[in-house]
Amino acid sequence: MPYNGEKASKGGHADFVKNPDVMSFLAECEYMREPNSAEASLIASSYQKILLTVPLDLPRYVVASDASKSDTPINDKLPSTQIGFIKVSQVLIGMERYAELIDPASRFVDPFKAAEMHRNASAITFTLPGSNIRFQGAKSVKDGFRRAVFKQLNANRAKDGSDFVLTETLLQLNNGIIEFALCPSCCIENDFKFITQEVQHCPHCKEPVFITDWLRLHEDISDFGNNTSAMTRMMNVIEHLLLVTLIHQIFSVSPKSLSSMAFVIDGPLAIFGQPAKLHSRIMEFLFKINNRLSELGMDPILIIGLQKSGDVMDHANILNKFLPPSVIKLLDDEYRYKYIKGSDSPSENFGGETYYGQDFIFKTEKGRIFNFAIPYPFPDKAPGKKEFSKKKSKIEHYGNLVEKACNLICHFELDLYQNAIVPVALAHRHASISIVPGGKVLDIITKTGLKNN
Ligand SMILES: [Zn+2]
Repeated sequence: MPYNGEKASKGGHADFVKNPDVMSFLAECEYMREPNSAEASLIASSYQKILLTVPLDLPRYVVASDASKSDTPINDKLPSTQIGFIKVSQVLIGMERYAELIDPASRFVDPFKAAEMHRNASAITFTLPGSNIRFQGAKSVKDGFRRAVFKQLNANRAKDGSDFVLTETLLQLNNGIIEFALCPSCCIENDFKFITQEVQHCPHCKEPVFITDWLRLHEDISDFGNNTSAMTRMMNVIEHLLLVTLIHQIFSVSPKSLSSMAFVIDGPLAIFGQPAKLHSRIMEFLFKINNRLSELGMDPILIIGLQKSGDVMDHANILNKFLPPSVIKLLDDEYRYKYIKGSDSPSENFGGETYYGQDFIFKTEKGRIFNFAIPYPFPDKAPGKKEFSKKKSKIEHYGNLVEKACNLICHFELDLYQNAIVPVALAHRHASISIVPGGKVLDIITKTGLKNN
């Protein structure tokens, strides 16, 4: 069934070229470079064989997150009135119970089961004002949006009396101090310095200023425009902040269990747009945790960003038929700009302001192709753009994480068909527990015996 779930390759031939108008247009055109299979073979020759050890070395637990949002207008009157609603859930998947649960007769995602899992997952939700909505008497949509972001990131999301506050994670990621130089409301210069989450006030306009204004999510917000992109950025930030918070919590209770877990996130390991600088804090945080694990003689954490669409996947799908099975390619910048981005003025370091993970293209033994990322194993992007671009492209820097990621992908291969929501796909035939933020996750670790193993 999963093979039936695959849709036709995007590299398929287009029917419209048979149209007479298109044909006469083409008669006046020439190729920049004649398409030929030699070019594909040349690209394919840069892929390296990867042989996975059998049985596969797999993590004991996988945490997968799933984020969704809706931000369509709430009625059809004008001016358009918009509310943003973001939902993020995390599930913990027990890999060891896999053998008991596997049903060879139905190796596909049952849509009803998937929907049920969605309902049952204890999602964390965020509601935000969009166009034409003033939140808590704010003078503009933007100021209200800032308030709402702060209020919701500063709320304790733990349902069991423990502590799960995303603004605390934000402070930790910034080593206890958050600073910025412009008032987010009146835009007049003033040094804001936060060492706690306490609300401050701008000396000029007297508007409240929040620690979360550092994320700059509000900058795109206008009173009557479509504020969808700010909601998307917010969702992106929350998903990555939740990941970091969970890693931090588990680390403080049981570093050992962390090194036997994997975390799967939907999409690239990157933060785009206004809050992009958060990416470097996450990169540094993960480096520190892995450094500590290494000092304790433990393996680094496996974090995988899995991308099911986008230009890398489009390229991989076209190339697929030219690739032998079981090959991998680290997407260095040269390759990316030459074959995927096609830019005349390539950046010296792709994703320099946004990415904290390295992309790979992996073709499995069964012939399916994946684009995944694992975090850069460095604290920062020193010493310079060009040097970092080279440094991140050496596959040996990623140690056994590349093989571990491939193992996990192969293990879940049949379920990871296109358009499946990653955690649903991962969880549907595994023992999965929806993670309730807070101390519960620590209970899970203790109960499942991870702590003492
Ligand atoms: Zn001000």
